[in-house]
Amino acid sequence: MDLEQMWQSTLGEMEVQLTKAHFATWLKNSRPIDKKDDTLFVALQSNFAKTWVEEKYQKNIIGIVRNMDTSVKKIEFVVGNKNISFNKAPSEAKDPQAGASAELDFNKTDPETGLNPKYTLSSFVVGPSNELAFAAAAAITEAPGKKYNPFFIYGGVGLGKTHLIQAIGNELIIKFKGKIKPKYVSSEQFTRDIVWGLRNDRIESVKKKYRDVDVLIIDDIQFIGGKEKTEEEFFHTFNALYEGNKQIIISSDRPPQSLPTLQERLRSRFEGGLIADVSYPEYEMRVAIIKSKLQEMNRKLSDQVIDLIAKKLRKNIRELEGVLKKIIFYEERKQTDISVKMAEEIIEKATQNLSKRVNDAQILKAVAEFFSITVEDLVSHNRRKEVVEPRQIAIYLLRDISDLSYPYIGEKLGRDHTTAIHSYEKINHEINRNPALNQKILTIKDIIYKS
Ligand code: ADP
Ligand code: MG
Repeated sequence: MDLEQMWQSTLGEMEVQLTKAHFATWLKNSRPIDKKDDTLFVALQSNFAKTWVEEKYQKNIIGIVRNMDTSVKKIEFVVGNKNISFNKAPSEAKDPQAGASAELDFNKTDPETGLNPKYTLSSFVVGPSNELAFAAAAAITEAPGKKYNPFFIYGGVGLGKTHLIQAIGNELIIKFKGKIKPKYVSSEQFTRDIVWGLRNDRIESVKKKYRDVDVLIIDDIQFIGGKEKTEEEFFHTFNALYEGNKQIIISSDRPPQSLPTLQERLRSRFEGGLIADVSYPEYEMRVAIIKSKLQEMNRKLSDQVIDLIAKKLRKNIRELEGVLKKIIFYEERKQTDISVKMAEEIIEKATQNLSKRVNDAQILKAVAEFFSITVEDLVSHNRRKEVVEPRQIAIYLLRDISDLSYPYIGEKLGRDHTTAIHSYEKINHEINRNPALNQKILTIKDIIYKS
């Protein structure tokens, strides 16, 4: 029986066991890639699917597969779409689903450099929240590898990290007329390359690819932490480049000292360079960003509408941009100038979608579902390990998503408020240290927002 047939039969059995929605969400687009020794490799379409399938279906799937082929002892799930093949380096296979780089438009991204020309320094609006990061970026484009090496930029989602580090790469290509070779890579892509190299005895060529560049840009390094082999390779690559006076640029969602899974030696390397953060833009800057985006799109909006958008969207430039595009789209469709009232409605709807006004029951249900327990288990006094962690996560999410008070959360789960505080803080602390926990929580959030 070939791999494809075996996997189709497996899916057939899983389809019977799962609800239609679950099957479609988690397994439908899965695909067998390879079998090596006793391990079957299966591609799933997202990190979410991977976490979910590993947590819930792994054992079951192994059982089914082993009924057909007893030589299989393990299944490894990888993230990728149908173009991924193990005969091909993963970077050659386009994978628009992959993590952070999904934000990049792959049609316009140069496969060689990983750079998308739409990100430029001149389209980056500078203000108090990103001044230092911008100044460092600009200095690096003057003399890469000389000053500010490594350059470490950190901050929350949608605050311009990818934009800025991509812009450095683009600027260097223009300024040095292609004589300086930058390479941008998400840390997921980097990890996949390393894993691929190790698995296919091609690690030397993967290493060479990374060590041949003049400027290495790695986005969202927080996703590397904890994967030992990748971290090891990254460390060596880092050293090789650093010693060759090559520029290294790294982004992260938190500062180096809060990347505890990262090896100490790596963290201290980061701390030896320049560290700059990007934080929330203030009102004036949000207005400037809106105006700059409008100019890029060749559009106009009234000052009142611009003011409204800037006042309502404060914490994430990507969301701000999304709302702006919605308003423009609406205007185009209706062929009328947008009034403040119309804009208000669009914003209200869009921001509601963003936080989705999730209710408590949905959160509890999603957590219970993820861990295969019941909502009753969550609110019960059961102290079994299988229930304690899910309960803490439920408390964490009630606070994190819905911003509910501790006494309310405590009551909801039949606990007092100190337990609620303790649980929240515990998870909040661990999330930074434990990538697996972080991924679980992201997956549960994804389920909540999709429901
Ligand atoms: P991050 O990588 O920090 O999550 P991104 O760099 O992807 O954020 O930025 C999200 C969106 O917001 C992008 O479209 C980017 O162009 C835009 N953006 C962020 N900061 C700025 C800025 N200072 N000026 C102009 N656009 C910005
Ligand atoms: Mg980013």
